[in-house]
Amino acid sequence: MRRVVVVVAAALVLTGCGAAGAPEPTATAEPTTAEPTTAEPAPAASSPAASVPAAAPEPAPTPSATPAPAEPDASAFDIDTGASLQVVVNKRRPLQPPDHRPELVAVSSAQEGGELVRPELDAALAAMSQAMRAAIGEGTFVFSSYRGYERQAELYSGYVARYGQAEADTTSARPGHSEHQTGLAIDVSGTGGACRLATCFGDTAAGRWLAEHAWQHGFVVRYPRGLEHITGYEWEPWHLRYVGVEVSTSMHESGAATLEEHFGLEPAPDYAP
Ligand SMILES: [Zn+2]
Repeated sequence: MRRVVVVVAAALVLTGCGAAGAPEPTATAEPTTAEPTTAEPAPAASSPAASVPAAAPEPAPTPSATPAPAEPDASAFDIDTGASLQVVVNKRRPLQPPDHRPELVAVSSAQEGGELVRPELDAALAAMSQAMRAAIGEGTFVFSSYRGYERQAELYSGYVARYGQAEADTTSARPGHSEHQTGLAIDVSGTGGACRLATCFGDTAAGRWLAEHAWQHGFVVRYPRGLEHITGYEWEPWHLRYVGVEVSTSMHESGAATLEEHFGLEPAPDYAP
């Protein structure tokens, strides 16, 4: 912006000097006549003139408008408590308390059976599944949702036994560090079931639709492609996290791909030593 202003100002000075200044020193002596006389600077002058009033009224409404819609203040959300809809859980941020158990309801849209989630998520999911079905002909199918601390401990130790801890840590959360324990995370496919739990899900109609539209229903794809150094997990196009429409919309608008970036948190590539 500054460069543009400088260039425009320089252009005005140059046209002012070149047009009338060189041959007739009178023009420089009388700036009043020089300005209206030159027909060319007029349109140039109108652009900075237009930007001035445009910028002027902005400061007035901005202060009143900023707090709510522009960018939700991170401090407006509780990202620390396990029961908060905006809680951020990752390898550096264990769930508080570690054995937190949320209020749960059975998923009301298509599911594997016995899948439990927070009621807020269930309502948003039902609407999203309906919208997805209307758009691409299949709804969402939940095949994994709430997992308690003990279940996560079982799963994790199973992965460690099979692949070793380093490898296990890239795909499975340690107990007390899983978003699934919040009741705010679901693993989904389309009702067609294509590419379930595989990265090729991201290239299916369902995976693409969710990547583009989940934010409209308060969800984010929690572990985007190529951001393991921030989230600590490889790309999981099937893992959706409910954060509420206000946060998901704000992230969509700002382009923040992860909750860590959105809330200004340090990256969580691994467990703190
Ligand atoms: Zn998951």
